Amino acid sequence: MEEFIISSKNKNEIMDINSKVEQAVKKSGVKQGIAVVYTPHATCAILINENYDPNILLDITDSLREQVPEGKWRHDKVDDNAAAHIKSAIIGPSQVIPIKDGKLTLGRWQNIMLADWDGPRQRTVFVEVISK
Ligand code: ZN
Repeated sequence: MEEFIISSKNKNEIMDINSKVEQAVKKSGVKQGIAVVYTPHATCAILINENYDPNILLDITDSLREQVPEGKWRHDKVDDNAAAHIKSAIIGPSQVIPIKDGKLTLGRWQNIMLADWDGPRQRTVFVEVISK
């Protein structure tokens, strides 16, 4: 299993990790199978979406911020980051991508990204590549 660290610079930040996942797939030598991309944190998430127009990532961030306002939740009494937990729960901590001919089967407008909702922090990502 591959593992890497990525550092966010803002409280809410979506970071492209596509090339890191591609490297893990290449290193594995797997031609047909799946890649599991997973982050072991309760306040960030893994998503697949467009990163060509950077406004989409800002729109996703703003949309979740509107849906999940800060500072009104029970868990805020513990460490004041309930909104980050909820946003992470909505998206989820992992994605599974099929591998065909040694490559991730992502669409032209799809990239793999890590969303940090409680940055700035260092975040760990695991990539497990499984052969068919
Ligand atoms: Zn918390």
